[in-house]
Amino acid sequence: MAKPQDAFSRLINALKVLPNVGPKSAQRIAYHLLQHDRTGAAELARTLDNALLQVRHCARCNTFCEGETCDICADPERDGRRLMIVHMPADVSGMEAARCHDGLYFVLMGQVSPAQGMDLNHIAIDKLVTRLQESEVEEIIIATNFTAEGDATAYVLAELLKNLPYKISRLSRGMPLGAELEYIDAGTLAQAVYERKLLKE
Ligand code: ZN
Repeated sequence: MAKPQDAFSRLINALKVLPNVGPKSAQRIAYHLLQHDRTGAAELARTLDNALLQVRHCARCNTFCEGETCDICADPERDGRRLMIVHMPADVSGMEAARCHDGLYFVLMGQVSPAQGMDLNHIAIDKLVTRLQESEVEEIIIATNFTAEGDATAYVLAELLKNLPYKISRLSRGMPLGAELEYIDAGTLAQAVYERKLLKE
């Protein structure tokens, strides 16, 4: 019978869930936490536990939030006629910082990868369809990255929405090729929104 793992090995294994952390890095982090920063490690364990309990998805836009809906969806000043579709919560923060969109958002929480067979299970398509059914949306702004995955996701969305009565646009190609929204400065982002390209009237 296999011996149960000791606590240190279990910690190393658990740390491998972090992105880009392999066995070597996991071991380094485990050493660091237990040897040099036990206070920080305890705080990490507490806040992670708490976040897992508290953070869920907004019922309307699918971003992370702690109540039923997020602050943006709950804000009566936002213009519900324009819905911007993005990959991740960080993209919403970027758009908000650029102050270039006063409508609402929908967060896919992933993207479609041509390299992995265009699997739609990585994006919240069903939730998007439900969201559109109960809304006053007139224009949908596709704000995916300018990468192979972002293009593939934009294509899937445009296909999904093509027979529905919405004006559809995508951020302008003024953005550098290969660009992820997360790393684009506010000025360029705002310009890409203002100069968005109409895909369908
Ligand atoms: Zn929301």
